[in-house]
Amino acid sequence: MHDVSIHWYRNGLRFHDNPTLLDACQQSKTMLPLYVIDPEVPFAQTQGLRPACIRANFVMESIQEVDKKLRNMNSQMIVILGKPKQVIPEVVALFGASALYYEQEAAAPIRKADAEILQELKSKVGKDCDCKGYPTHSLHPMELYLSKCKGNVAPSSYGAFTKIFNNLKVPKEVEEVTQVPPLPEDALRKLKDKFGEQFRMPTLEDLGYENTKEKLKNRAKGGIDFIGGEDAGLKLLRYMMSRKQWVATFEKPNTSPNALKVDTTGLSPYVKHGCVSPRTFYHELSKVYAQFNSKEISKPPVSLHGQLMWREYNYLMGYSTPNFHQMADNPVMRQIPWDDDPQLLSVWENSQTGYPFIDALMTQFRETGFLHHLGRHAVACFLTRGDLWQSWEKGAEVFEYYLVDADWSINNFNWQWLSCSAHFYQYFRCYSPVAFGKKTDPDGTYIRKWLPMFKDMPSKFIYEPWEAPLAVQEKCGVIIGKDYPYPIVDHKIVSKDNMSRMKEAYDSQKNGLPMPESQPVETNEKRITFADSSNSDDASHEPDSKRRKK
Ligand code: FAD
Repeated sequence: MHDVSIHWYRNGLRFHDNPTLLDACQQSKTMLPLYVIDPEVPFAQTQGLRPACIRANFVMESIQEVDKKLRNMNSQMIVILGKPKQVIPEVVALFGASALYYEQEAAAPIRKADAEILQELKSKVGKDCDCKGYPTHSLHPMELYLSKCKGNVAPSSYGAFTKIFNNLKVPKEVEEVTQVPPLPEDALRKLKDKFGEQFRMPTLEDLGYENTKEKLKNRAKGGIDFIGGEDAGLKLLRYMMSRKQWVATFEKPNTSPNALKVDTTGLSPYVKHGCVSPRTFYHELSKVYAQFNSKEISKPPVSLHGQLMWREYNYLMGYSTPNFHQMADNPVMRQIPWDDDPQLLSVWENSQTGYPFIDALMTQFRETGFLHHLGRHAVACFLTRGDLWQSWEKGAEVFEYYLVDADWSINNFNWQWLSCSAHFYQYFRCYSPVAFGKKTDPDGTYIRKWLPMFKDMPSKFIYEPWEAPLAVQEKCGVIIGKDYPYPIVDHKIVSKDNMSRMKEAYDSQKNGLPMPESQPVETNEKRITFADSSNSDDASHEPDSKRRKK
């Protein structure tokens, strides 16, 4: 039994199925629930990269809910602004804590930062503090998977991973925490004396976010409001599980990238931030499946169990692959000579490509922090191998900034997949920015929702408004080249050119030849002069310069 312990929160912002918190509570006479926020890069996953307002708000709401519940148990969340590497050893020393409980992460940058923090702690307080890390952010610990892999090497395909997964039993959930030990004696005074103004629950403004009302105003427009916290997450989970037939027969490829309301579960932000336990999600699905004949139930990889298994596989790849977030020195990566054109990246990010389907998707993405999986496919393919030939690393960085569910392992894995740089290599299968959206939404209702300027555009032209006669454009109030850009590239031409480039890159790698030279795609001249994102009056996102710590 510890006289004083610290429960250090990062993910795991919940009371149900939280083994780290449960053990801390059961093994401590007094306990300090602690969240450390680095005000320079709050909630960063990759060093130096701060999230956009929507994710920061989601995490703050989740912390506030934990605080409220702790207060009902006569404790509270202690939030300290500062660098974890400095703050954690200081708090441990201040209270003479003999244990630090925390949930481990699979993501390399966080593991690296954790190792540094624990090293610092050891050098400051010696061995007096027992550091207890729990690998419970996934269904199984990554080391357990690796121990079942040939030569401790992660399998190179989801299919092979499935065999390993199926031989393991997902552990039962642990009991919910309903009581916590009290704070250490005189804790609030000691913290105030030591940390002064650093010890407080910050507002988003304190963390450097401006125009927050404006930036958050559309976050529910995609059909789910993404209010942070366990209560909202469990409510959403219960609602989704009540749709039994839908759950049992769910097949991801049959969902729609341009549904007006999210037509998958929408649970990813809650799972990512640990407001909903992945095990709870998994077992709730099992309960629904158990009510159906096994022949009726969809199966991995397309089922909902299958989605959670993708998460495990992505985590395992991120855990076991050196330099997973980059092309260089990443052993699973095919080297592709991407071009590097900040203007094209900005055009894509700011919905100025001239392809309404892509621009509508990117508008939903910026305004809500969320996008349907197949919508993510379409825009990621467009930026990389499909059209603009920009590196997946750049796209992944933009995603990590905006997404409310941004997750280092899953994000990098999927960008590598979509750009055919790793895991998936069928580069001749390319998403058309015109035909793909039409399949599920021929009238372009989704485009009209996110780009209201097109509300009167006849369905015939809504995916290709530049084909509309000038009289039609005038009647709808959208003149192409004036009110809305010409397409940045001609998809039919560049997608074919890009396939040849992919082939060349693959061939040279296979034959051990040097990587071919990078070549820019041929852009539409008329379009480039129009594409100045500084013209954009969209205040819902911050300029690039604010994303990175200087
Ligand atoms: P559902 O279909 O309801 O799936 C249930 C859960 O399974 C999700 O909540 C999520 O935890 C997991 N899951 C679903 N799809 C995948 C997948 N393909 N890979 C791994 N896990 C999955 N997902 C993130 O959580 N964070 C990211 O940063 C992220 N970046 C992505 C980037 C790109 C380019 C692409 C193509 C996909 C990315 N995804 C990411 C995966 C996927 O798009 C989202 O997990 C999914 O759309 C979330 O919606 P949902 O919760 O309704 O998913």
